[in-house]
Amino acid sequence: MADTTSQKPHCIVCKQDNATVPLLTLTFQDNQFAICPQHLPILIHNPQMLVGILPGAENLKEADHGDQ
Ligand SMILES: [Zn+2]
Repeated sequence: MADTTSQKPHCIVCKQDNATVPLLTLTFQDNQFAICPQHLPILIHNPQMLVGILPGAENLKEADHGDQ
């Protein structure tokens, strides 16, 4: 089953769909993804964790906390 276009939106991390959790839609490199609020901090603070999940995530940089 390689058909991802007709799939319901689901969190890229936990794979839950919007029947279970609220989903935030994000676009990245012209692709649309969804992420739940629980995993949004990963996108902000630990985008390296999304490498292999989100195509192109290896180019993301974590938010600069200014605390180092
Ligand atoms: Zn999630």
